[in-house]
Amino acid sequence: NREIHLVSRPAGEPALSDFKLVETAIPEPGEGQVLVRNTWLSVDPYMRGRMDDVESYIPPFPLGAALDGSAVGEVVESRSADIPVGATVVHFLGWREYAVVDAAAATVIDPTLVPAQAFLGALGTTGLTAYTALTQVAPVKEGDVVFISGAAGAVGSIAGQIARKLGASRVIGSAGGPEKGKRLIADFGYDAAIDYKAGALPAQLAEAAPEGIDVYLDNVGGSHLEAAIGAARPGGRIALVGAISGYNEPVPGPGNLFQAYTKELNLRGMLITSYLHLFGEYIPQAISWLADGSLYTEETVIEGIDQAPAAFLALLRGANTGKMLVRLA
Ligand code: NDP
Repeated sequence: NREIHLVSRPAGEPALSDFKLVETAIPEPGEGQVLVRNTWLSVDPYMRGRMDDVESYIPPFPLGAALDGSAVGEVVESRSADIPVGATVVHFLGWREYAVVDAAAATVIDPTLVPAQAFLGALGTTGLTAYTALTQVAPVKEGDVVFISGAAGAVGSIAGQIARKLGASRVIGSAGGPEKGKRLIADFGYDAAIDYKAGALPAQLAEAAPEGIDVYLDNVGGSHLEAAIGAARPGGRIALVGAISGYNEPVPGPGNLFQAYTKELNLRGMLITSYLHLFGEYIPQAISWLADGSLYTEETVIEGIDQAPAAFLALLRGANTGKMLVRLA
């Protein structure tokens, strides 16, 4: 069994030397547990926050222990009457080849409906985050102009398409670089693309949305949030989903926050863990969108447990389009 440990807390951008590949014995399941051979690991930006030793909504990663995170795997040994050997499960003990998981903490999935790794992306908390942001936190109404940052990433590439399904009249996405901009329009259902690396955001947003925006899904924070507040129409809604521009190093907050009261904006944060009950309504819809081809998804796949730290570093630098995953042999 090989697993990835955090061995030092990154200062600013993480380095490969902050991680170590460690060999251990394959663990033994106890009563009520299953042994899972992991096949797919989810790579997620929030993990950066857990690498700092600070109190937050989720505890920091301890040093010298395996990281964790969402994963898909196959049950190879079972000491639970609820989950048989051969079942495919989603659970939270990723970043290792073999995991002993409490049966109660594993969800059996049907990998014949859709590829199993979709349960880490469109059918996982990634897809649910996009859906929740645009239906609960900053609900999209018929005819709205919607702006989404991180638009070519896991959440953003799904969110643009969901905004359209919810009745948005125009959907604008921001991502880094001309290639991603092309993909936003060609594949991810966006009407207009902003390359935040190419020029000032307020001017680009004014051009893409001359009459302003009604809804903003913020994956980035910092200058993106400031530009969105500036472009918002009175009564606009902003879902504060992520702030990746400040995960390695703090970035200044929006300098125009006063506009939130003059325009009576609604800025609302969210943690997807508070909305897991929505899986029940979301999953059947998402499965039908995937089946009828009206939801297009993409994955960036890195091979091998030894490459998982590199995949995480690449995610923070924007090397992914769609969901960043590690596939284990
Ligand atoms: P992504 O697939 O979007 O990957 C991260 C992307 O962030 C990169 O591809 C990169 O794209 C972009 N990025 C990196 N640095 C910057 C920067 N300085 N400015 C602008 N963009 C940057 O990840 P996810 O879809 O998994 O997550 C997206 C956001 O949603 C994150 O902030 C995450 O923390 C948050 N999130 C929050 C949840 C919640 O419960 N609130 C749940 C899930 C995710 P590019 O090439 O365009 O720069």
